[in-house]
Amino acid sequence: MSHVTAVLPTDEPPLMHQAVEEAVRLLREGEVVALPTETVYGLAANALDAAAVAKIFEAKERPTFDPLIVHLPDKKQLDTVADVPAEIAQVVRQLTEKFWPGPLTLLLPKKAVVPDIVTAGLPTVAVRVSSNPVFRRVITALGRPLAAPSANRFGSISPTSAAAVLAELDGRIHLIVDAGASLFGLESTIIQIEPGQPKPVITIVRPGPLTPEDLKPFGKVRLGPRTVLDQATEAPGQLATHYAPRTPLRLLTRPEDFHPEEGKRYALLSLRGEESDGYVGLHDWEEVMMLSPGSGKLPEAAVRFFHCLRRLDDLGVDEIIAEPMFEHGMGIAMMDKLRRASVNKPAPVHGNPVHQRQRFSGADDRE
Ligand code: AMP
Ligand code: MG
Repeated sequence: MSHVTAVLPTDEPPLMHQAVEEAVRLLREGEVVALPTETVYGLAANALDAAAVAKIFEAKERPTFDPLIVHLPDKKQLDTVADVPAEIAQVVRQLTEKFWPGPLTLLLPKKAVVPDIVTAGLPTVAVRVSSNPVFRRVITALGRPLAAPSANRFGSISPTSAAAVLAELDGRIHLIVDAGASLFGLESTIIQIEPGQPKPVITIVRPGPLTPEDLKPFGKVRLGPRTVLDQATEAPGQLATHYAPRTPLRLLTRPEDFHPEEGKRYALLSLRGEESDGYVGLHDWEEVMMLSPGSGKLPEAAVRFFHCLRRLDDLGVDEIIAEPMFEHGMGIAMMDKLRRASVNKPAPVHGNPVHQRQRFSGADDRE
């Protein structure tokens, strides 16, 4: 697998036209193409062509037991790939009307037309409709569903820019369509819905940009076992390692937990870079990357999250130290990812006084 990887810009109408045309041509030929979405960059292939989908697994070195998300050109096409059970049809309609196109993925019983390689043999398929204008142009012109997991090598940091995709997949794919930085910066929220009285039960199987608060009007929301990977593995903590930089990362729960070793170089991933949070002044850090400088706003932190991790990873320090975040809103997804990336896997930190010192709006809305 050795290709010349082209990066095509989309910031002028003729360039956009060219990039979309080239992407559609390659996808029609059964090739994979890296495309921008509003969450992170995806590596797309025709979802109904098993041979094309196999190239995604090959380029990403992704194990075939890890299923892919299927993107639709339009929400009206949901029933081409999934069977929506009658008991949840109403809530599915409400959710897709409210959040599609957008960063919400639904797990639903799959139709036979979806190849088993897409769903890793599972009876369900993960479906969403992206709101990214460039992605929409490509999938609309193609007129078929696209399978598109994040455009990184398996287990590595998700890409939120064309440069990050290139760092991950250079030489492995023909084309990256560049549409600038991802809008949300975190992978879609994945949910499963069960009928329930008086309300349907919505289980968040992967936390993401849409928070429990966003979903609450539609059902009883709970945070579930995180992914099929967790359920599939016998050895806890093994496949729970994901989104990981090459540099070891340690997620702290309290400043006192940091014990630097003589001669080692450390860099800090800080939420807002404030001394008063207790982490910035702990050490003479090689570098401090701030997710949301000064303000600690979680949506801003989310946009910069994978970018900051990548920058810290490139420093070549001995360890990346991560400050904890308040597990509210998008903080739930970022803490989930930090825990998976970390060598120490600290337990959730609800009610920790260190976090209560950080001043963020809103209360914890987990049920
Ligand atoms: P990615 O596309 O890289 O963001 O990863 C897609 C993730 O969606 C997988 O790792 C699974 O956690 C989840 N997923 C996809 N399809 C299914 C499915 N049929 N059932 C449960 N989880 C799924
Ligand atoms: Mg991924």
